[in-house]
Amino acid sequence: MKALLLQAYNDLIYTDVAEPAIGPEEVLVEVRACGICGSDVHGMDGSSGRRIPPIIMGHEAAGVIVETGPEVTGWQVGDRVTFDSTVYCGKCYFCRRGEINLCDNRRVLGVSCDEYRRHGAFAEYVAIPQHIVYRLPEGLAFEQAAMVEALSIAFHAVGRRSVTLDETVVVVGAGMIGLLVIQALRLAGCGQIFAVDLDEGRLEMATRLGADEGFHAGKADVVAEIQARTHGRGSDSAFEVVGLSPTLNTAISCLRKGGSLTMVGNLAAETAFPLQAAVTRELSLYGSCSSQGEYPACLDMIARGAVDVRALISAVAPLSEGASWFERLYHREPGLMKVVLEP
Ligand SMILES: [Zn+2]
Ligand SMILES: [Zn+2]
Repeated sequence: MKALLLQAYNDLIYTDVAEPAIGPEEVLVEVRACGICGSDVHGMDGSSGRRIPPIIMGHEAAGVIVETGPEVTGWQVGDRVTFDSTVYCGKCYFCRRGEINLCDNRRVLGVSCDEYRRHGAFAEYVAIPQHIVYRLPEGLAFEQAAMVEALSIAFHAVGRRSVTLDETVVVVGAGMIGLLVIQALRLAGCGQIFAVDLDEGRLEMATRLGADEGFHAGKADVVAEIQARTHGRGSDSAFEVVGLSPTLNTAISCLRKGGSLTMVGNLAAETAFPLQAAVTRELSLYGSCSSQGEYPACLDMIARGAVDVRALISAVAPLSEGASWFERLYHREPGLMKVVLEP
């Protein structure tokens, strides 16, 4: 079969590889659409240690089942499906608590690290364990279904604590996940939603998708602007969707006393942290990783048009042109958001 293979760091080729063999409880999915994730783009240069070549990346996909293992139940050839990016074991302490994103034996599709290698969906076919497969709502296009993984991350983040009706929120980082977080916050019943970014185009998109206002962190005094709109107190909550020291500190500085911060971005492994402000202002901190069973709700919301994922898809292109799209994303071409590849 054809696949987009990372054969060495920063070296993607469209080439022939062996079709994956499926296990007894796996299905073979013919991939129809697979989105390029930021973690693939950052990971292909070796900086994350999670895309050790050779690896077929890709974990945001949708397609059609073409083969089922002998112990598969409930799935048939021809079913239109998507699947979780996380292969969880279902047996460990955390899985048994329903915290599948925290699974002790977690493996992510399209990732290779020191512990494992699991080929992903930038290929004609991918093998998927049946317990992470989800059925597509009728009529939902494959390229939109491929956005479900990103949306599930946003839904999970917004669900980490219960949102109070009409609360004021600051979202730092208006990239792909940030824009989905903004949409989810709007649906959850937030009041004022403010977006913070360094890109005017993204801020404009943020206001189009549900934010009340956007602030350019390089031009505006973000904290002063937020205070001016919150009786001088600061926002009830903030979402950090970048993961660097300056953005983390901006998010914390925007909060009122007793406010809460949900941390989604983690570009840097370690950041400076204003300990005293967090302690003396009694802030609550929530980490949020991947998702935890939000897929069916997310698929339904996309299918009903409650969440607009189409606005975030910059291009749908053939998998054979994948390398050049990765190149453009790697060099941060302005205005490029999600690129979906079709085998
Ligand atoms: Zn991803
Ligand atoms: Zn587990």
